[in-house]
Amino acid sequence: METVFSKIISKEIPAKIVFESENVLAFHDINPQAPVHVLIIPKTTEINSVRNFIAGAHDKIIGEMLSAAKTIAKDLNIFDSGFRLVINNGADSGQEVPHLHIHLLGGRKFTWPPG
Ligand code: AMP
Repeated sequence: METVFSKIISKEIPAKIVFESENVLAFHDINPQAPVHVLIIPKTTEINSVRNFIAGAHDKIIGEMLSAAKTIAKDLNIFDSGFRLVINNGADSGQEVPHLHIHLLGGRKFTWPPG
């Protein structure tokens, strides 16, 4: 499905990219909710959310996304202080873009439970 994220992958629209590999792209969120707010996405457009996740077929990409999160947290100096990873899925979660993405948030203290 074509979304704002697929247009970022194809470079049709610009983004502040912080990480890119064969299968994964990460860029700063346009509306940051913390001093560091990065979105980590697979380059494939076939996974709309965790609800589309297929065991076996998609295991590798999730591992690569988490590995990217670790690298980016180190690069952006939030690894030691701590950070939060969020994946919204569907209407009740507030998911806006139907392309799997991990929010990497850091640089401030977060409350729990989330709002
Ligand atoms: P979600 O609500 O989990 O679907 O998150 C979608 C995120 O994408 C939001 O935090 C938006 O601010 C972000 N977003 C939307 N359009 C862009 C864009 N063009 N560049 C960067 N981030 C975007």
